[in-house]
Amino acid sequence: MNRIVQKHISDAAFKDKQAVVVGTGKSGLAAARLLDALGAKVRVVDRDEKIGADKLGKLADRVELVTGPHEKAHFADADLVVFSPGVPVRKLAPVLEGLPPENLLSELEFASWFIEAPILAVTGSNGKTTTTTLISAILKKAGRKVFTGGNIGVPLCEYLLDMEPADIIILEVSSFQLQNCRKFKPHVGLFLNFSANHLDYHADMDEYLDAKLHMFSRMTADDTALLHDSLHPLLDGRAFTDARVEWFGPTERFEAPHLMGEHNRSNVEAAWRAVSLFGVTEEEAAEAIRDFRPLAHRIEPVAEKNGVLYVNDSKATTLDAVQAAVHAFERPVRVLMGGVWKGGDVKAFAEAIEGRVAAVGLFGGSREILEPELKKRFPVSWDETLGQAVRRQAGLAAPGDVILLSPATSSFDQYANMAERGADFKRAVEGLDD
Ligand code: ADP
Repeated sequence: MNRIVQKHISDAAFKDKQAVVVGTGKSGLAAARLLDALGAKVRVVDRDEKIGADKLGKLADRVELVTGPHEKAHFADADLVVFSPGVPVRKLAPVLEGLPPENLLSELEFASWFIEAPILAVTGSNGKTTTTTLISAILKKAGRKVFTGGNIGVPLCEYLLDMEPADIIILEVSSFQLQNCRKFKPHVGLFLNFSANHLDYHADMDEYLDAKLHMFSRMTADDTALLHDSLHPLLDGRAFTDARVEWFGPTERFEAPHLMGEHNRSNVEAAWRAVSLFGVTEEEAAEAIRDFRPLAHRIEPVAEKNGVLYVNDSKATTLDAVQAAVHAFERPVRVLMGGVWKGGDVKAFAEAIEGRVAAVGLFGGSREILEPELKKRFPVSWDETLGQAVRRQAGLAAPGDVILLSPATSSFDQYANMAERGADFKRAVEGLDD
């Protein structure tokens, strides 16, 4: 266990405090474990009535579990409320009424109280995981001891409990987590881009942007904010940070043979700028970047059959990500889209991909949002399932075409998550005749 956590245990700062953890996902359970280790009384609440004590593992006989609709009584005695990422906190306002806002925290905020190593935090609408993972790969190659987590992989609370202290903490942070941060302050904050996303969750784009900017508001002149050039119109003239500001955009500085598209040249430059602040040389970075392979489900080539390239970009859950993927190819693209809508301007998107897209194969949900604008410019078909859409486009494709799953939506209408959607695409491609 991290020695700072040890110190807090001996200080007894949390002893017998009543903590409420909302959500029984990985992050929520890690927060409950940390609070329990600190001596707090822990109540875990989850709206899902099907959750049983078995979900709590070893914590089952140490914490109180309350399931079903949230009620004021579940929170009324709380000294501290910790939210799992993804909990729609705004919707909980009625049951949280009367609690001091400084006692309402995301798991990231709570864990950050126990971190002394410099934090490098990556946020943005698209490219967070790719860039975070690339930064991690470069720093490791350069011999630094890093922890990489947050929104991906291991929650920060779990790192504190189970892992050796690292020299640099690299975090992918989402707007959900940032919205309920109070003191969280990275040494380097990287803002990759900003576009419509999570509008099923945030009240509007302003609230979504404010959540992202939150992170920069506490940074000081000793810290660095790395901002993508595309953010100038949103941020110029806006006093949102005291940190030293550096702007960046796509460059050809490094060879990145496995990362396709201009957007990835931005991601690579972002990663380089971030690691250079930790003393990494250009030679050290170059080697790691050259070897870096795209993560699964992000413009991932799957197979080439009869001259048609099949590409899995299931992680593309925004129109901007789809646009970036379409522009990564010089060949005509047949793009497969559909699922649960999260927001975005379909008309502007259709204009931006014109000339590159041979056809759009819609599948599953959001047809009513996508089809009206897209059919003005492209041949559009609709199928109930992804498998049917793959087979239809395979039948229509000419050698040289790309069939790209880049859905612009979340997957929950037909799948448990985007990885299952990507796996289903791969299966459908495997099943096609060679
Ligand atoms: P995130 O963690 O922000 O969701 P990922 O790295 O997992 O980001 O990538 C999600 C999707 O966004 C993928 O389809 C990927 O190809 C695309 N993408 C990655 N970087 C960018 C970028 N800088 N601009 C637009 N789209 C991007």
